[in-house]
Amino acid sequence: LTERLQNAIAKLRRKGKISENDVKEVMREIRLALLEADVNFKVVKDFVKQVRTRAVGSEVLESLTPAQQIVKIVNEELIKVMGDEAVPLNHSKKIPTIIMMVGLQGAGKTTTASKLAAKLKRENKARPLMIAADVYRPAAIEQLKILGKENDIPVFEMGTDVSPVEIVRQGLAQATANKNDYVFIDTAGRLQIDEKLMAELAQIEELAQPDEILLTVDAMTGQNAVEVAQGFNDQLNITGVVLTKLDGDTRGGAALSIRAVTGKPIKFIGQGEKMDDLDVFYPDRMASRILGMGDMLTLIEKAQRDYDAEKAKKLEEKMRENTFDFNDFLDQMNQIQNMGSLQDIIKMIPGLANNPALKNANIDPKDMERTKAIVYSMTKAERENPDLLNPSRRRRIAAGSGRPIQEVNRMIKQFKQMRDMMSKVSKGNFGGMEQMFGN
Ligand code: GDP
Ligand code: MG
Repeated sequence: LTERLQNAIAKLRRKGKISENDVKEVMREIRLALLEADVNFKVVKDFVKQVRTRAVGSEVLESLTPAQQIVKIVNEELIKVMGDEAVPLNHSKKIPTIIMMVGLQGAGKTTTASKLAAKLKRENKARPLMIAADVYRPAAIEQLKILGKENDIPVFEMGTDVSPVEIVRQGLAQATANKNDYVFIDTAGRLQIDEKLMAELAQIEELAQPDEILLTVDAMTGQNAVEVAQGFNDQLNITGVVLTKLDGDTRGGAALSIRAVTGKPIKFIGQGEKMDDLDVFYPDRMASRILGMGDMLTLIEKAQRDYDAEKAKKLEEKMRENTFDFNDFLDQMNQIQNMGSLQDIIKMIPGLANNPALKNANIDPKDMERTKAIVYSMTKAERENPDLLNPSRRRRIAAGSGRPIQEVNRMIKQFKQMRDMMSKVSKGNFGGMEQMFGN
């Protein structure tokens, strides 16, 4: 998903101004990317329609940074499809809060129940009890007992000869007697949705009246995950979804579809087999992950807030005509400083963020202050026409700014190189100003 989307967006970036046709093309790529990622067909259709409507609006075509605008829209729509906000676990007014785990065999019910119980214990000092209601495989009870032991969480079990409903009845009685504040019911799964299992789960639901029925879905199963979710959702009052096995290079498509198809919030994601590999599901983080953008969006918003589009347009003209002078240079430095430290900015740019050379690069804000000091020591005429800067003027500037003459010379040389480069870039249809900010 990520690669296709990123290629499409990179293509747009190289264009600068874009047309309605470009939008159409990038929409096609987005649609394919989503379908490849196993996002449900209908979800894709609605999603693309929504993005397109917004993208052909004037806010994008008229903007100086259309690629950024499209990324922003795609991101916002992704977040919307996934439910906007993180949804917390339901809590009962009186203890215990009852959480029932349901899902296919191997989806991660037992693991997730233990992870979640351990998390509540760790973070809320909770005293959970886990009930072993999967009586079809002896190994399932053993597995829960092992996890319980490892995490110091009691497990209620009655072996495999008692009906699951009866086990749950007695388990709940024990939880009440022991004043456990959370009860997890670990139920059985099947390889496919099956009538008998559903009837049994419905009976447990009826008896236990859970505050939360967490449907556990294996994210690696793609399209199938959606059908499964739909099946369970039709027959039980699912209150939330846990998406497991999102570690590794699992495609995030299921996250998009499940929320859209069932209307039920994804509450947690499993990202590994270890007990602390369970995280609250944040739609915005998942969207960034799907887009593979790091904190690109934060950066875009920052840049938009601090960056005056009119000014940028003028600047682009100046660059093209090679009339960029030291006053513009000062302006630029101030702009960059307003956006935060350069290091902060680099951290947010994918591709640069993990560049070892830049990671430890010491970008000293003092360097910029020294450069500014040199510019401030120039006369108005010198700032407007850098070619005036002959050796005697340079000596005067060095003395005035308190910087060595070599530094003044170097700075002026670099300025001229930069100006030439900018002129070439802006003449060469590279989109101009956006290039400077690495987007
Ligand atoms: P259940 O049949 O639904 O109870 O599934 P289990 O809890 O027994 O999990 C089945 C397998 O998936 C086990 O080997 C787990 O360790 C593994 N598993 C569960 N959640 C995750 C996860 O988030 N990531 C990974 N990599 N493995 C997981
Ligand atoms: Mg299990």
